[in-house]
Amino acid sequence: MQLDDEKRRVLAETKGFMPDEEGEALFRAAVDICRSSVEGPIVEIGSYCGRSTIWLGAAAQGAGRVVVTVDHHRGSEETQAGWEHHDPEVVDQRINKMDTLPFLRRALWDAELEDTVIAVVGASPRVATVWSTEIAMLFIDGGHGAEHAAADYRSWAHHVAQGGVLAIHDVFADPADGGQAPHDEIYRPALDSGTFVEIGATGSLRLLRRQ
Ligand code: SAH
Ligand code: MG
Repeated sequence: MQLDDEKRRVLAETKGFMPDEEGEALFRAAVDICRSSVEGPIVEIGSYCGRSTIWLGAAAQGAGRVVVTVDHHRGSEETQAGWEHHDPEVVDQRINKMDTLPFLRRALWDAELEDTVIAVVGASPRVATVWSTEIAMLFIDGGHGAEHAAADYRSWAHHVAQGGVLAIHDVFADPADGGQAPHDEIYRPALDSGTFVEIGATGSLRLLRRQ
């Protein structure tokens, strides 16, 4: 399965932090899990403007599944004003805070994914307090501070169904390559728990399967 031309076009004009090669790997994993007997939705932590959401959404749409994408849309530490990844275009001038929700909505509309992707606006651990559904595939790409990454792992990973996939973005073994929180607070604990085994790695994307 491949992304259709329209979704590819939308992807090309959607702001975000996921390189195509990693997006393709995420897409392939999502297609596989959607075709498998593992039930449940795909859940994404960290929608931003919807780049990774388009890949996940395209895979789910083909299989009649749902993607729930969670974000408070106020940005992470590293995307605030003054930081390397800050984009002034995503600031709500009225309150001088980031607001990426309008960009996500535009991407979902243009990519014809409104029937498939449910956007949940809220802080990830807060949303998790009302979550009880088993998840076929969980993609964690939210806050990259140690506290946020640890909270995402703690609040969501146990909902991954047996045979389901835990995907983690921005995993760097070497601190010289990037921040360590996804590696130290999500990837390592998941493997060390003995509950997850690694099934794939592309760039900084890691794919784990729940035993
Ligand atoms: N997956 C996106 C990039 C996500 S960037 C892509 O591929 O393009 C990380 C996102 O996580 C930001 O939009 C930020 O607002 C969100 N975020 C950070 N901490 C969060 C938290 N505690 N709860 C909800 N969202 C959070
Ligand atoms: Mg990322």
